[in-house]
Amino acid sequence: MLTDLTIAEAREKLRAREFSAVDLTMAHLHAIETLNPRLNAFITVSHSQALDQARAADEALARGDARALTGIPLAIKDLFCTVGVRTTAASEILRPFVPPYESTVTAQLLRDGAVFLGKTNLDEFAMGSSNMTSAYGPVENPWKRLQDEDAVLVPGGSSGGSAAAVAARMSMGATGTDTGGSIRQPASFCGLVGVKPSYGRCSRWGVVAFASSLDHPGPFARTVRDGAILLGSMAGHDPKDSTSADVPVPDYEAACRRGVKGLRIGVPKEYRSDGMPAEIEALWQKGLGWLRDAGAEIVDVSLPHTKYGLATYYIVAPAEASSNLARYDGVRYGARQDGAELSDMYGNTRAAGFGAEVRRRIMIGTYVLSAGYYDAYYLRAQKVRALILRDFNDAFQQVDALITPTTPSAAFAQGEKMDDPIQMYLNDLFTVGANLAGVPAISIPAGLDANGLPLGLQIIGKPFDEETVFAVSAEMERAAGFTALPQLRAGG
Ligand code: GLN
Repeated sequence: MLTDLTIAEAREKLRAREFSAVDLTMAHLHAIETLNPRLNAFITVSHSQALDQARAADEALARGDARALTGIPLAIKDLFCTVGVRTTAASEILRPFVPPYESTVTAQLLRDGAVFLGKTNLDEFAMGSSNMTSAYGPVENPWKRLQDEDAVLVPGGSSGGSAAAVAARMSMGATGTDTGGSIRQPASFCGLVGVKPSYGRCSRWGVVAFASSLDHPGPFARTVRDGAILLGSMAGHDPKDSTSADVPVPDYEAACRRGVKGLRIGVPKEYRSDGMPAEIEALWQKGLGWLRDAGAEIVDVSLPHTKYGLATYYIVAPAEASSNLARYDGVRYGARQDGAELSDMYGNTRAAGFGAEVRRRIMIGTYVLSAGYYDAYYLRAQKVRALILRDFNDAFQQVDALITPTTPSAAFAQGEKMDDPIQMYLNDLFTVGANLAGVPAISIPAGLDANGLPLGLQIIGKPFDEETVFAVSAEMERAAGFTALPQLRAGG
């Protein structure tokens, strides 16, 4: 099946003209037609644009002018602005929004010849861990519990549509954004590789903002090497994003072949959360064993401020969100609701346009930033954030990378954890640290739980040292030999 190929394989076969880019794109569009009505991973499918891009890719291949991703079909999280293609952020307020500009990341993917199949579903404005807050309906995880095939599981969030699309073979890879875990957690829930690079590695320009100091664009793929190929295209300095780092982009694919001999790998003891399921603890130990066998040294380290990570995140992220979302006023973007006075128009537009979780975040954010509470919450959270960053810096004096579980559980069912926002926020326990510190982290599928659901392990590295993170990830991927497939997939 064409839809089962990795990006690396497809790239080679396209160049050898074993099939055309149009064939490959058609196979994925067909998979979308069959599976998307059930999984709801795409908000918008760009059928004719994808075929036009595939035809252009075939012409480039015929000319011998192939680039890194020529003819590779990808799915784009509907948070990346795409010229002429509606970009909703899964919100009612942006339902009619068709951007006149292209995000830098998607522009770079197009520059390298990628084909865009469409825009994927997400939690509204990327706020959530289940894809249940989308105004365009929930996404179904293509994986099923062995003993309970009727349960509809969440793909994780916020980039749940991208993860479901890649897992179900509707797309070969996808873009996501990770503010507190939104690439790594859905990757873990869907048996994928999810890459959150260093802060500043991928431009945020043209990506709908959630929390600007925490937002990280990055890729989803089915293999570590494919993740490296995608990040290579997405990364790079962008003068249009003042936080974009002006550092060269190394050869991530080559880094995947480096091995781990002689590396020092840290195990942060504070990540042993109470109540962590025994099978996740066991998988973690197994992962450390793989690295030890491959010649790495395992070292215990301490990240003493880990326990403040979630509280800090859930102050900083809503604060920045409340400020970023002030721009949706019914004047500049998207939908408008009329009102007798200007202020009524603002109020009506925002009340009709934002869902419950987004409104909750705006209220928390404006509260922690308000004059009376700024010092008690926001300022203090920023100070704790500095301590969390220092923890990572101290740990990286001793080790080259850290290994932790990605999530405290496997995928849960739709409706679970819905009545208590705090339960939902706990999903991000192991992921938010890397966002607060801006360090790179990858989740790889490492094993299955007793229900046959994928579980991820997380590899965290030094700032801008994605290469070591890829080297360790690739070694663990080889050892894990993860070959399980989701029940709902093209040809499945
Ligand atoms: N689940 C986290 C939140 O709800 C992270 C979301 C994200 O990374 N975009 O904020």
